[in-house]
Parts: sequence; C-alpha cells; structure tokens
Amino acid sequence: MDGLRLSANRPSAGTSPYVLIVEDDDITRRVLSTAVMGYGYGVMQASNGREALDLVGGGQADLVLLDLGLPDIDGMEVCRQMRLFTRCPIIVVSGESSETRLIEALDLGADDFVTKPFSAPTLLARMRVALRHAFATAAGEDDLIEVGPLRIDVGAYEATVSHQPLGLNAREFKLLTLLARTPGRLVTYKAISYQLWGGRKQADLPAVRTSVSLLRRELGVFDGAPSVLTEPHVGYRLVAADG
Ligand code: CA
Repeated sequence: MDGLRLSANRPSAGTSPYVLIVEDDDITRRVLSTAVMGYGYGVMQASNGREALDLVGGGQADLVLLDLGLPDIDGMEVCRQMRLFTRCPIIVVSGESSETRLIEALDLGADDFVTKPFSAPTLLARMRVALRHAFATAAGEDDLIEVGPLRIDVGAYEATVSHQPLGLNAREFKLLTLLARTPGRLVTYKAISYQLWGGRKQADLPAVRTSVSLLRRELGVFDGAPSVLTEPHVGYRLVAADG
C-alpha cells in the first residue's frame, strides 16, 4: 500500500507540530499514527524511504520517526540524506538490537532512538525532548541553565543544587553543562568525548565513565537533583527528578 499523506497541506503556523512516520509495516505504522495523533500531533505517513525524503523535502515535517528497515532505501541512508537538507529532529524507531546500527544512525545525525517494543509514553517523552531541543537550538545557548533545583551559571563557572554548590572539577563541570543544556536528551559517548577532550583526541570509554561517576556522586548528595541515566553502549541523559 502506498504511503498515506494525512493532512499533507499543513495548517497555518501555531498549530501542533507535524510528525512524519516512516514505517513499511502497515500495522505498526497505523498503531504509531493513532498513538501520535492521540497526543495531539499532526501525522504524515510514508511506507518507504523515497516517500519519506519527498515529504521531508516538502518542509512540512517538524519531527521524523524513522524505521531503519525500509524496503527501498536503507533507513540509515534515508537519515543521512535528510540531514543534507533539514535539521528537524529524527528519532530512529528500531526493532534492531544492534547497538552498532543505532550508534551509526546517531553519528549520521539522528537525534535519539527508541527500540521496539516501546511504550507510547516513552515515545511521547522522547518526541517532546527532541522538539524542545530543536526550538531551543534556534534561540542559541544560554549562559544560565536550570534543571529542577540544579542551576548552572556557565560564565561564572558555578553549579548549585538548591543554592548549595557542587564540588566539581573542570571536566565534570563541562560534562554537567553539556548534559544539562539538553535535559532528557541522549548525549552520545562520542559527543561527550569530543566536548570534554577538546576534539583533539577521542577519550576512551573508561575516562568518560569515570567523569560520569564523579558527577553522579556529587549530584547524589542532593535530594531532588537531576540524575544521569545510562543508555547502555550509547551514552547518557540528564533527567530531572520529577521526570
Ligand atoms: Ca521495517
């Protein structure tokens, strides 16, 4: 069956974001569409890579949910091509357990991923984070970051939780700032390594893990502080205590 284009003419600005669902399995695509529409988003559907690229090229999608296993063009290649002309968030929806493929998709410009089977609330949370980040990026980087009771004054080089200073060295301060700029959003090992070691060399995984555990120890002292969640083999997210 051909991809459906529900409401292909997007309504005027100010309405809900439009989500492009790229999935070749008819049943999965319908279930996803129903869930996403149920949350108040507009939905467009594509059942193969070519349609997906056409629809994204039309500039109507605010977010893409991308299945990696597509019949015509590999999802990875679809992701790469989309990134040539759009910065809209791409969330990979994958049935694959292969971390290598997921990491490759992230390296090609995907923003996040969910693995099947997933719950609708999890998917919604990831979509919200990705959209919030996309809008915030346009506004530039803040010098003052707040996540719940955590407050980072980047210029003053100061991080506090409920006005109590965190004892962080330069590297952990940088790590916290990096994670806190995009709360809830996945930050890959590669991105962390690049930011913390100045892009000159790739830090090894144990060095990143050491920094994360030092940061966790400091945050763990404070009630209500955000916590650093691990996405095994991929990276980390900073998550506010209240979700
Ligand atoms: Ca598929």
